[in-house]
Amino acid sequence: MYEFNYHRPTSIDEARQILEGNEEAKILAGGMTLLPTMKMRLAQPSDLVDLSGIDGLTTISDDGDAIVIGAMVTHADVAASDVVKAGIPALADLANTIGDAQVRNRGTLGGSVSNSDPAADYPAAVLGLGATIATDKREIAADEFFEAMFETALGENEILQSISFPKPKNAAYAKFPNPASRYAVAGVFVADTGSGIRVAVTGAGACAFRASALEDALQADFSASALDGLTIDATELNGDIHASPEYRAHLVMVMARRAVTAAGG
Ligand SMILES: Cc1cc2nc3c(=O)[nH]c(=O)nc-3n(C[C@H](O)[C@H](O)[C@H](O)COP(=O)(O)OP(=O)(O)OC[C@H]3O[C@@H](n4cnc5c(N)ncnc54)[C@H](O)[C@@H]3O)c2cc1C
Repeated sequence: MYEFNYHRPTSIDEARQILEGNEEAKILAGGMTLLPTMKMRLAQPSDLVDLSGIDGLTTISDDGDAIVIGAMVTHADVAASDVVKAGIPALADLANTIGDAQVRNRGTLGGSVSNSDPAADYPAAVLGLGATIATDKREIAADEFFEAMFETALGENEILQSISFPKPKNAAYAKFPNPASRYAVAGVFVADTGSGIRVAVTGAGACAFRASALEDALQADFSASALDGLTIDATELNGDIHASPEYRAHLVMVMARRAVTAAGG
């Protein structure tokens, strides 16, 4: 049987107190990853701390230079948001490619980014746009956030509250989806930030990473043809039943060209 205490705090302070008072407690957002993990007995938390009762975690706002999205905003709400569509259309498009309608209606930005699944889509946008992650304790730059497979800079019991995405001049995301789950076999987010080109890759490595050789080439010439002749080193890439490291390396270059073209390059 599943044995855990369910909590639905109404403030961040209350959530933190419950988490700090129960060593085996876990944050619950949309439950799209956590609940299957519990069903498979890969996690057995003593307490679930559901963030859905906390005000302020479901807002999307335009702060002028950036779009700020609360941790509990669902993928469906990001995809449908007029604020996101106007400020960063590539982010709304990305959200619309995640999973299926059920997953998009339950899964949250905070849950996805905290989890750092190697095949998740949002990490590519967080890194590609140079976003800032706000927690209950501090702000973390995207470049410092994704550390390894399912590992981030978040400390124990640290609560991701919102993410601030700077508005780019142009941006686009292209992914090769797993045909069953829609997770990225390889996905590339390309952004012309106005002060530089950023290229972030998901699906291919242990966690999302920036492709600096591609950034340098696109900085000199923002066009798909600028990537001709470039390759991604497959040595550190993931290999599984879906794709070999070499195939993922190939897909990254194909997705990068598509993203650059979609971003106007
Ligand atoms: C069938 C299926 C298909 C999917 N396809 C895709 C896809 O195509 N692309 C994609 O990107 N994703 C995909 N997902 C993942 C999904 O979109 C969710 O984003 C993901 O499961 C986690 O979000 P969640 O809100 O459900 O978090 P939960 O499952 O509730 O939590 C996930 C983890 O994050 C922690 N956590 C949650 N919120 C916070 C917070 N605010 N602060 C700190 N820690 C927190 C939890 O403790 C837990 O460890 C798919 C999932 C399923 C089940």
